[in-house]
Amino acid sequence: MSDLLLQYEEATSTCTRCPLAATRTQVVFGSGDPNAELLFVGEAPGFHEDKNGVPFVGQAGKLLETLLNGIGLSRTDVYIANVLKCRPPGNRDPQPEEIEACESHLFRQIELIRPTLVATLGNFATKLLSGRPTGITRVHGVPQQVTLGGNEVTLYPLYHPAAALYTRSMLSVLEEDFRRIPELLGLTTVVPEPVEPEPELEPELEPERPREPAVQLGLF
Ligand code: URA
Repeated sequence: MSDLLLQYEEATSTCTRCPLAATRTQVVFGSGDPNAELLFVGEAPGFHEDKNGVPFVGQAGKLLETLLNGIGLSRTDVYIANVLKCRPPGNRDPQPEEIEACESHLFRQIELIRPTLVATLGNFATKLLSGRPTGITRVHGVPQQVTLGGNEVTLYPLYHPAAALYTRSMLSVLEEDFRRIPELLGLTTVVPEPVEPEPELEPELEPERPREPAVQLGLF
């Protein structure tokens, strides 16, 4: 699938489906493992992403990387994309017409990557991919089964890292929700309960064992 994803990325690089094409530096398609089990979907590129062509490279991206490292993963283990592939001027919210024009790019990405777990970061990605208007405050940390790109996937809404940078309590919730990701990926290894050592028997209580007759050495 990775060749098809690359071809699709190339085709998308000249997209003019919405007016953001006129103000962007470049299309920010996505980055990471094209066969990732875990896909993160953010909102839209910001200043740094527009300049670099890679999603989540600013402060919010640093936090995302720290959170990933905290559960034993790195950027290269996952795929990171956004609802919008082009930067809205001044980092304003995505407009409904922009989301509508751009959403098929994201759906095609999901179809080609075929993740089993899709973690939506913030309201825009969560509402688009859940198909429901319920806000992130109510649904964060609650996995949902949805069909995306023709496949059954687990959708896992999370607070947006940029929001968590400004609100301490949100950061704690985001960290806590992140800790469930390995389990949702089926990565948790069951650590066996420590085995209680057998109590040592006091010598005088040692049970009598029938003595084996001494083995004769076969000298003859
Ligand atoms: N950077 C991104 O690529 N997406 C966001 O949603 C925020 C920052």
